[in-house]
Amino acid sequence: EDKLTYVKSKIGEYPDFPKQGILFRDIFGALTDAKACVYLRDLLVEHVKHNHPDVEIIVGLDSRGFLFNLLLATELGISCAPIRKKGKLPGEVASVEYQLEYGSDTFEIQLNAIKPGQKVVIVDDLLATGGSLVAATQLVRKVGGVILECLVVMELSDLKGRAKIDSKVHSLFEY
Ligand code: IMP
Repeated sequence: EDKLTYVKSKIGEYPDFPKQGILFRDIFGALTDAKACVYLRDLLVEHVKHNHPDVEIIVGLDSRGFLFNLLLATELGISCAPIRKKGKLPGEVASVEYQLEYGSDTFEIQLNAIKPGQKVVIVDDLLATGGSLVAATQLVRKVGGVILECLVVMELSDLKGRAKIDSKVHSLFEY
């Protein structure tokens, strides 16, 4: 059985969520299937082990990136850190503001999360316009991290988000 095909078949699809005209791709549809959980873990871990054996820390994006950063870190025997929305992280943080369709949002990372020169893989569930990952790459560089790759489970290729991101991008599958 092909793991990728199996996982993809379990991703939920919700038309007009969270608003009219959006087809929402729901990772939790896969996570409520025991076999898809294991396959998804295998696919992500194998990809990073094979392509970035020198990675030192996994950075996950608020909030579905957190499903995968601790998972990858423990499987690889390395550390992990979160990027969160403004005001959620204690201590000194670096911030980057990024544009949304309407208005803007701010991502933050703790200054002590990444050691200067540490090799980073950034992870999230889905790449759409790329705004989130662009902000995340800026933040990681601000605190001294070296980005090996942005890794997502799903990519909405029509939106061409990957073209905006100034580092390697890998998706397990595209729509
Ligand atoms: P971007 O910044 O436009 O690339 O949007 C990516 C962010 O929005 C990610 O953190 C995703 O979790 C979230 N997102 C956008 N569209 C979807 C979707 O269809 N399903 C799940 N998450 C989405």
